[in-house]
Amino acid sequence: MSSTTSAVEIAGLTKTYDDHAVVDDLTLTLPDGSLTVLVGPSGCGKSTTLRIVAGLETADGGTVSIGGRDVTAESPRTRDVAMVFQNYALYPHLSVAANIAFPLRNNGVAKDEATRRAREAADRVGITALLDRKPRQLSGGQQQRVAIARALVRTPKVFLFDEPLSNLDAKLRVELRSEIRRLQQDSGITALYVTHDQEEAMTIADQLVVLDAGTIAQVGTPEELYRRPANTFVAGFIGSPSMNLLDGTVRAGTFEGDGVRFAAPGADAAAVTLGVRPEDMLVAPAEHGNGTVEIVELLGPRYVFIVTAGAHRLTAVVEAATVAGWGRTPTPGDAVTVDVRPDRVHLFDETSGRRLA
Ligand code: ADP
Ligand code: MG
Repeated sequence: MSSTTSAVEIAGLTKTYDDHAVVDDLTLTLPDGSLTVLVGPSGCGKSTTLRIVAGLETADGGTVSIGGRDVTAESPRTRDVAMVFQNYALYPHLSVAANIAFPLRNNGVAKDEATRRAREAADRVGITALLDRKPRQLSGGQQQRVAIARALVRTPKVFLFDEPLSNLDAKLRVELRSEIRRLQQDSGITALYVTHDQEEAMTIADQLVVLDAGTIAQVGTPEELYRRPANTFVAGFIGSPSMNLLDGTVRAGTFEGDGVRFAAPGADAAAVTLGVRPEDMLVAPAEHGNGTVEIVELLGPRYVFIVTAGAHRLTAVVEAATVAGWGRTPTPGDAVTVDVRPDRVHLFDETSGRRLA
């Protein structure tokens, strides 16, 4: 939109609490106008990173620059960032209109102008009819729309979202995440979005960053991380149900470990972790199969089978149409063959967890 770029450069960021680095030498670029999602389990340092970018927290080391300007020593106010939190943080005594207009009034924008722009922002998130209400008269989803409108109203350089949908029910989360995506794209404003939900992360990210204990496990597009996870942490975190991970050896193109053998194109290795996504498992009823069904779940168009094979407990996803073709849906205790699509297996070094070429 504007000619001045608002790319964010995070370099060597470190934050320590009680001798423990919760953000550990983190370096990352948020390309201008893109939406970067920081995803990872609870406690991995997502909020801390976001709050340092916002200027709400001071780093122990490293720098943050926005649009080529080092803002490390600046206050949140002069950084020109807008934040949306999990708990909407609205002013209870102010109307929706006044809540949205608040950042403008706070920056000395005249009342008429502020009201007009608040109305525009409300319109963009579909809450024009609620402008005169107080926050307590709104549902959670409506309150979060107000919080988003309040972030939009200023046209900041950077949007920061910290688990903005976590307090909403599942259906609303799905709806609102694509709206946030659309609003961010329309505005062209660089955004950093934090969530622990890998599905949410996958669906909205231009750039996906998986964080593991304060360090970056992998950065790339959602597709890159899904197709070629760089390590077992990302392999296990991205995708649902989670990728099966089995330890063993590879000899002459065959993986062997704890009572199973699968074709695995790869160089001989003594200690590998084989990764197979549930949708890349091959399961079929067979009287003398190498596996046993433990749990069967129907997820609409797909079945999830938890099967035991050797010493492993593996998850397989099978299209409902395929199962229909079997004539009878397997039930717990039934014997099945368990195999993998050899062209879809992932191999990792068992010790380091790193992907093998
Ligand atoms: P996330 O948002 O990924 O769940 P956080 O960034 O909130 O994780 O926290 C990362 C780690 O830092 C956690 O172990 C948390 O307990 C710790 N932590 C966060 N803030 C503080 C603080 N103010 N004092 C001490 N420890 C903190
Ligand atoms: Mg957090």
